[in-house]
Amino acid sequence: MKAGEYMKGRVHSIETMGTVDGPGMRFVVFLQGCPMRCAYCHNPDTWDNVGDSTMMTIDEIWEQFERNRSFYTNGGITVTGGEPLVQIDFVLALFTYFKERGIHTCLDTSGITYTPVQRSKFEALLAVTDLAMLDIKDIDPTHHKDITKQSIDPVKAFAKLTTATNTDVWIRHVIVPGLTDNKDRHYRLGFFLGAMPNIKALDCLPYHVMGVNKYKELNIPYRLEGTQAAPKELAVAASKTVLAGMKAYRQHQWSVWPQEG
Ligand code: SF4
Repeated sequence: MKAGEYMKGRVHSIETMGTVDGPGMRFVVFLQGCPMRCAYCHNPDTWDNVGDSTMMTIDEIWEQFERNRSFYTNGGITVTGGEPLVQIDFVLALFTYFKERGIHTCLDTSGITYTPVQRSKFEALLAVTDLAMLDIKDIDPTHHKDITKQSIDPVKAFAKLTTATNTDVWIRHVIVPGLTDNKDRHYRLGFFLGAMPNIKALDCLPYHVMGVNKYKELNIPYRLEGTQAAPKELAVAASKTVLAGMKAYRQHQWSVWPQEG
């Protein structure tokens, strides 16, 4: 029996025509389960490790991909969640399978599940990952903990691993009014990112309120009740500050990771 037949993942949902989760048109697989509890998460229905998910084999996912394969010539497959690396064995097998068939692979992750003990498995995964989209919620440890209920340390360690493996990375950072719209922390984020020559893009995304209704349906209190969507200008300003921080780090040409690391 081959991996495609026996490896199963817990799939929350599949979007066949994704345009915002990586380059080109993408087949997007949302995996179930996430240990983070981001205050602004718009997918709380993916948090539970079981939830309303479907067990799918790699062959079944491939079969769906193939139906629209001609659409993905400039894109590929993206695995997101939830936090896809809760199911790292499955993602590793899935990406290996798709890479063997010449498909571009993109991993959308928070990096939160990384541990040095599992380094070799993560390296194996990054070897079959064409692009990692790394979502950094906040560079400040206290704020990160407050926003996500998790430590930032694994996120930073994962970021450093992508540099060590020279994996292409797009950085994502959501700008939430009153929560993450802080110039000092944006600059510090940039200073940290300055040490990552493998970064290919930076995307500061304005907070939106889509998904808030899911909290009501799931009977989960929404921590940002009343927070308005962020204007685009706020995200543009944040991008400039992050880039200024990156530039400042690189101008010094420091050979060590900044203190934030
Ligand atoms: S990491 Fe993503 S899925 Fe998990 S809580 Fe945060 S925003 Fe939601």
